[in-house]
Amino acid sequence: MEELSRPTFPKTALGPNPDTAAVIGAAERINGVMAFTVRSSGPWAAANDTCSLDFRESQTNSGSHVTRNLEKLSTHLGIDAHGIVTCRQIHSDRIVVANGPSESVPSADAVITERPGIYPAVKTADCLPILILEPAKGIAAAVHAGRRGTVLRITRKVLTFMKKRYGCEPSDMIVALGPAIGACCYELDERVLTPLRQAIPHAERFIVAGSQDRSRKEGQTPSYRLDLTAVNRYELEAEGVPDKNIHELKLCTSCNPQLFFSYRRDGIHSGRQLSLAGFRP
Ligand SMILES: [Zn+2]
Repeated sequence: MEELSRPTFPKTALGPNPDTAAVIGAAERINGVMAFTVRSSGPWAAANDTCSLDFRESQTNSGSHVTRNLEKLSTHLGIDAHGIVTCRQIHSDRIVVANGPSESVPSADAVITERPGIYPAVKTADCLPILILEPAKGIAAAVHAGRRGTVLRITRKVLTFMKKRYGCEPSDMIVALGPAIGACCYELDERVLTPLRQAIPHAERFIVAGSQDRSRKEGQTPSYRLDLTAVNRYELEAEGVPDKNIHELKLCTSCNPQLFFSYRRDGIHSGRQLSLAGFRP
């Protein structure tokens, strides 16, 4: 079991030449797949295609580039693109179970499957994507955990759901925490942090003082910075996921413009990364 519980993340995917590949986290020894994309698809990119792995659909585009990019990614991973299931993300704590290719797109922020060949996926720009594989029961999940979802404790709720519905053991779970805005860049004011402090025990340990000097100069109230990944890691460990089973990319979306889209950095037209997990059929 020890052997099964350690997926490997190829270090070369984030080496000196980040354009060479998507950030692929493999869970191959358990016949699983975990993947986080980067914004440029490198060798897959067309010559005139500078943001070739954008998974954002909007009112101003047809979404056909998303279909194309899902095909590129699935080809790279050796999976069927039709098995990738996303949802309409609404910063909620809503969980959907998907056991077939989704024709309608439900509103939710976590997708769970019990079916090999179905790959739950979430789209993010700064929010934290969390991928979970439970090889003993064959359950896979993808979670979109932004600040609001974290306040709603979506991560804990997903684990509770997996335990109750499928009898999953957190000690069997393998979790990957993907690219998200880091404590280096995620500045928030007191008002926004109050609900987090109310919702999460020990929230204070994940909040650090922000740019005090600038705040003073501009006469604003002091700001704070939040370590979103650490909060969610805390939630996972509190539910019983072993530290050794949790893998973090430790890359800030805002600090790495060559690698990642960032809503805070790029604004409302920011693209989206895709993160997916599942078991091969
Ligand atoms: Zn940063």
